[in-house]
Amino acid sequence: MNIKQALFRAKMLLAGNNIEDASIESEVLLGYVLGIDRARLLASLDADISPEQRQNFMKLVARRSKGEPTAYITGHREFYGLDFNVNPQVLIPRPETELLVDRAISLCREYKYNKIADIGTGCGAIAVSLAVTMPGIHIYATDISDGVLRVAGQNAAKHGAEDRIKFLKGELLEPLQEPVDLIIANLPYVRQREIPAKGPLSYEPASALNGGEEGLDKIGGLCRGVGSKLNSNGSLLLEIGQGQGEAVKVILHKYFPLADIEIEKDLAGIERMVVLRLTQY
Ligand code: GLN
Repeated sequence: MNIKQALFRAKMLLAGNNIEDASIESEVLLGYVLGIDRARLLASLDADISPEQRQNFMKLVARRSKGEPTAYITGHREFYGLDFNVNPQVLIPRPETELLVDRAISLCREYKYNKIADIGTGCGAIAVSLAVTMPGIHIYATDISDGVLRVAGQNAAKHGAEDRIKFLKGELLEPLQEPVDLIIANLPYVRQREIPAKGPLSYEPASALNGGEEGLDKIGGLCRGVGSKLNSNGSLLLEIGQGQGEAVKVILHKYFPLADIEIEKDLAGIERMVVLRLTQY
């Protein structure tokens, strides 16, 4: 069997199980089995694969067709142009979150920020992307789990950012010992009743998704503590879910009646980010 035939079989199987992007997913999985990247795979469509490679590949395709995310099968996910190690202890980074990274970078440039805290860092996607893009910046990255912090630490080391990211273990802002210029967080915000028992989301850690009844338990907890951990001209960037913008704005207004608060949508037109900027008064 050659690469083209193997891909065709996988694609049919995945598409038949309602997996979107069946072609790309098949290519990523076969590339992983063969130890080559997608570009090389697509340049070698007529090359034969061994029966063993075929068997390994079809096993992975079967796992994927049952709903397991490709990123957990391969242990990798790309975010902000960088390769991140992931495992089922951490949320798989989403492309929408790149919006927060872009915004953080422009805020840092505009207001000359040099200390950031990424709260609930997970695999470290936000912290590492910021460290790689802005070598002069110092970053704290917090999480509640040792296992998660290990993954984030590996990713920092892999991208040469371990000396500029200080990892701290603890709940929300608690482990932060000094105020920073920018607090950025993609906390769990899915409403508890909306976490499915089946499908790709069910493979991801509830601790990274479950935001309680309205999805705002963790975000609300963070907002309560921001005042004492943000410098006077600092900013807060929060990822949010569909329809949560106004509620988060109300929470923030309670603590910061005079601050600028914006809600921004992602490319799909869904409310995705709340930006709070403190002004000196
Ligand atoms: N964006 C994720 C999802 O709905 C949720 C991530 C989160 O809770 N921070 O798939």
